[in-house]
Amino acid sequence: MTADGTTADGPKSGVGVDFSARRQEVRVLKNYVGGEWREPDGVKTLDDVDPVSGEVVAEVPLSGAGEVRSAVEAARAAQRAWRDVPPQRRARAVLALRDGLLSRREELVALVSADMGKTLVDADGEVGRGIESVESAAAVPHLLKGETLEGVAEGVDVELVRQPVGVVAAITPFNFPAMIPLWFLPYAIACGNSFLLKPSEQDPRPAGLIVEIVAAIEEIPPGVVNLVHGGREAVTALLEDPGIDAISFVGRAETARIVAEGAVRTGKRVQALGGAKNSLVVMPDADLGEAMPAIMGSAFGAAGQRCLAGSVCVVVGDAARRAEVRDALVSAASDQTVGPGDDPATDVCPMVSAAAREKVAAAIGRAESDAELLLDGRGDAGPAGTFLGPTIAIADDHESELPRDELFGPLLTVVEVDALDAALDFLNGSRYGNAGAIFTRSGAAARQYRYEAEAGMLGVNVGVPAPVAWFPFSGWNDSIDGDLHANGTDAVRFYTRSKVITSRW
Ligand code: NAD
Repeated sequence: MTADGTTADGPKSGVGVDFSARRQEVRVLKNYVGGEWREPDGVKTLDDVDPVSGEVVAEVPLSGAGEVRSAVEAARAAQRAWRDVPPQRRARAVLALRDGLLSRREELVALVSADMGKTLVDADGEVGRGIESVESAAAVPHLLKGETLEGVAEGVDVELVRQPVGVVAAITPFNFPAMIPLWFLPYAIACGNSFLLKPSEQDPRPAGLIVEIVAAIEEIPPGVVNLVHGGREAVTALLEDPGIDAISFVGRAETARIVAEGAVRTGKRVQALGGAKNSLVVMPDADLGEAMPAIMGSAFGAAGQRCLAGSVCVVVGDAARRAEVRDALVSAASDQTVGPGDDPATDVCPMVSAAAREKVAAAIGRAESDAELLLDGRGDAGPAGTFLGPTIAIADDHESELPRDELFGPLLTVVEVDALDAALDFLNGSRYGNAGAIFTRSGAAARQYRYEAEAGMLGVNVGVPAPVAWFPFSGWNDSIDGDLHANGTDAVRFYTRSKVITSRW
């Protein structure tokens, strides 16, 4: 039996099947607690909707405090013995997860595309990135090694060892339904913790498949990895539960703050990664032939629903250059194909829900009086009300909603300035600091940009500067509440406590 109640051989994805076939797949998703798939009793469910057709593809249980408590108890019961498993054997368990993910990669890719909406190419990139996090976590015996200092006084030595935090939970967003759970799960268990995942209620099926892969791995005992579906009530229960020692969160800045404050109130360690509004600076000397495809991919890939999406294009130059860049942007964006994620011709996929699309369309409508629309994508929203074509607006007021607020859709706002200093003033005025990029042929401009930009992940002639998993995912300002980021050595520091021992023999 699997996470969604079908047999292991049964259909997993809505990609490529007709709507009537999709209807037959509707199941209440199950939680995975202490090594068992459980359908929570007496809880409400939420529809998991196909972003193309609007059809209901699954029912998501909105678990509450009872389900969370059971999962925490199972996790706590398993953690003591799991901690005692030697790190190199825990690393082998993580490598078995890598093998499992590779063997079901196509299925997972199709499910990410079907549930969230993104293109298959994008979904494959997401799953590949998630597998890299698993590979990075497999180096944990090396990463866990401590420090020593001999002879701090006569015959006295000091050593630092890293021990697991205990039971840790991850609360994840809709936009990377496979990769972001994999930012946390492998590091958490490799460090000797038990883990509880609460995926986004909007597209939770890829998380279910990942946990199904975990469930088949002998080296990972029951209770070490648990899955609880739900929304706000489940998050509140996780925050309140005294059996949880640390929380990893990714989502909107407003939710990140709620989670961070709740975790601190109940004495939990927390890393809460929040929203973003990333600027792409186009310098007067930038090669537009090279820059335009990168800007299109950044602004409109995954329908602008990436935390690394470039949603503002800051054009540096005189009137002639500004006109040249406007024309290039409109021409490139007009060539983008809007369509379903499983169509290989698609560049711009549907948005995750009609509500998400409506939020962006409404902001475009509000801006019409003070912004110039160079390209308006508000055409046919499709059967589920989720399609929005690439939209480009010029903002005269650089502090207005379009250039400043995270809208999270295929909307690129253009801000025009005279010099790099003014571009830096604009982007450093953002409340966020996730990412940004500069397009230039000048080493001096690139150097000034990387030195002065107030954001944690920068691209130089790279539109989506996503760090590989061996580096932390390094947002600044309101793009994170907490100090330690996901991935890389930050992840190992977050999931362990240091203990310092001073010895005289
Ligand atoms: P969201 O904040 O709405 O939801 C994230 C999680 O929080 C979900 O599991 C959801 O169930 C829960 N949640 C939502 N509202 C809540 C509330 N009021 N109280 C308690 N829990 C709540 O985020 P989303 O819309 O799913 O994801 C998109 C957001 O995530 C964007 O803002 C994007 O920039 C951000 N994001 C950031 C990063 C990063 O690394 N900084 C990466 C990916 C996405």
